Amino acid sequence: MRFGKIEENEKIIKFNLELKCNNCEKKVPGGMKTGEKYFQTEEYFAQLNEFKKTYLCGVCRDKKRTDN
Ligand SMILES: [Zn+2]
Repeated sequence: MRFGKIEENEKIIKFNLELKCNNCEKKVPGGMKTGEKYFQTEEYFAQLNEFKKTYLCGVCRDKKRTDN
């Protein structure tokens, strides 16, 4: 999954997140990638928090889409 900013020709950092669905609480391993300059900046951590807070697994995301 692409995360944050990746500039053209920038080195890509790959990292893993332990994600938890905010609806069914299922744990999902997340293979993420981002740009070297963006990785572990203040903005990166802020966005990561936000991302974790709103994360839904594939099943719940589909369900939400159908409900709407
Ligand atoms: Zn879920």
